[in-house]
Amino acid sequence: MAKKSKFQAIKGTRDLLPPETALWNRVEQTAHEVFATFGFGEIRLPIFESTELFARAVGLETDIVGKEMFILDREYDNKTSSDLGHLRETINFMVVSSANQQSIDSFRQALSKFLVEYQEALHEGLVYQYEHAHVSVAHLAEALSGFAGLLELPRADNRWQDLFDKAVYDCKEYLGHILLEGTNALRPEATASVCRAYIEHNLQQLPQPVRLYYLGPMFRRERPQKGRYLQFYQIGAEVLGGSDAPAIDAEVIEMVMVFFDKLELQGLQLEVNSIGCRDCRPRYVELLRTELLKVKDQLGPDSQRRIETNPLRVLDSKLESEQPIIATLPHIADHLCEDCAKHYAAVKQHLELRGVIYRENWRLVRGLDYYMRTTFEITAQGLGSQNAVCGGGRYDGLVELLGGPPTKGIGFAIGEDRLILSLQEGNKTQPKQTRDVYIAWMSEQAYATAVRAAKDLRNAGFRVELPPTEQKFGKALSQADKLGAKYALILGQDEVAEGSWTLKTLADGTQTKFTEPDLLEHLRKSR
Ligand code: AMP
Repeated sequence: MAKKSKFQAIKGTRDLLPPETALWNRVEQTAHEVFATFGFGEIRLPIFESTELFARAVGLETDIVGKEMFILDREYDNKTSSDLGHLRETINFMVVSSANQQSIDSFRQALSKFLVEYQEALHEGLVYQYEHAHVSVAHLAEALSGFAGLLELPRADNRWQDLFDKAVYDCKEYLGHILLEGTNALRPEATASVCRAYIEHNLQQLPQPVRLYYLGPMFRRERPQKGRYLQFYQIGAEVLGGSDAPAIDAEVIEMVMVFFDKLELQGLQLEVNSIGCRDCRPRYVELLRTELLKVKDQLGPDSQRRIETNPLRVLDSKLESEQPIIATLPHIADHLCEDCAKHYAAVKQHLELRGVIYRENWRLVRGLDYYMRTTFEITAQGLGSQNAVCGGGRYDGLVELLGGPPTKGIGFAIGEDRLILSLQEGNKTQPKQTRDVYIAWMSEQAYATAVRAAKDLRNAGFRVELPPTEQKFGKALSQADKLGAKYALILGQDEVAEGSWTLKTLADGTQTKFTEPDLLEHLRKSR
């Protein structure tokens, strides 16, 4: 067995190697071409931005920002934030056991101390002042008092122990949400950056809407598995400004479907939904909460918690035992305000007009805070449980939330890794052929001719392998075969002397003689 090398790519990241990268390039090239036909221009964004941008745009409560962000520059501004940082680390390392009262007491005391000192420091301006600081404080205080409440309950069963572990986890989790210093973070997604750029460069002065697309790596600290990585790639597009006409929603969706069709992605399924607006959604969320409270006992711990934090997320649940209960919950489509209902109906009509086949999924709520009205998701074949290749939706209000003018917005992000996986599963891979012509040259006299032939063929756009040293005929042909070359160009002493070159087609072994100009012509024609 090969010796394990000392350095390896970090779990959840990977190297993309040829020939697979050819498929990546084909996908990206197709994106450039298709998106351009819909009037989109490419935007290239920084890989890291201020943590607060993501916190504000995506929401501290989301997994993406709350748990999964790679935060950079952990350098404290002053002694107070450094002391608090160290206290936080100490708390994080505490082992808290329900059987050890002392560990519980120390944990609670340390957390209370942190809360008091942090709030004082915040008040005095000694730690990083950010808009959501009070929300972070409230969450931590709530988690701490939840923990205290739990300790009052009888400890008889396993369920209590589960709740105990969860409460400790929650306290540490919310402690981690507090931003002690103004940091930067690797981008977990790019919509926030596009909106930031729209504001920063006054793009609202251009004819609206502005249509932008991007591609590149994103970073989320998720548990790695098939189709889920710490560093993954997205191809996304955003339409900003102008109106929120349903035709825009439909056209954006149409564009993704055209892109996928061009790539011949198999087993596509498009699901759409509307999640209402700031007026009607809160009413629906309250209704959902009321209904969920009635069946709380039948739900798992995650969903139970979400009844309080974000009831919409219960609809995302994949837990088998919860499915029959979720099926009885009210549908948001029945609770949209008049404007949202009209908008949703029109989006569906416009999709039909464009021949885009969709399915409605009332449970499609999307994990990010900024979505409103139209949401959609596209799944593809061969991806197991991580089968979503694209997610998107409308986010009017996000630009304003980031300090810009009121601006309509809609967009999507495609998971390129998953898209590629699905294409590979569907056998739409690039052929393994990595060279067009392998130049099998023999003898010093033939070498100069071989160099010239390589130059001419490459100029004409052919992929050429020119071996650096002389090889025996048999060895050259087997090498050409291994590289998956289509042809071997045989240049021996005789060929060079006669000016008549032999071209061997490797698939069937046929050989034909050509003069130099005829050869180029022949290859061009048979391309
Ligand atoms: P989101 O930004 O969460 O809406 O994700 C959009 C798309 O990105 C998803 O549909 C996935 O295809 C892809 N994606 C999200 N997270 C990951 C990940 N950790 N690894 C690979 N692909 C991902």
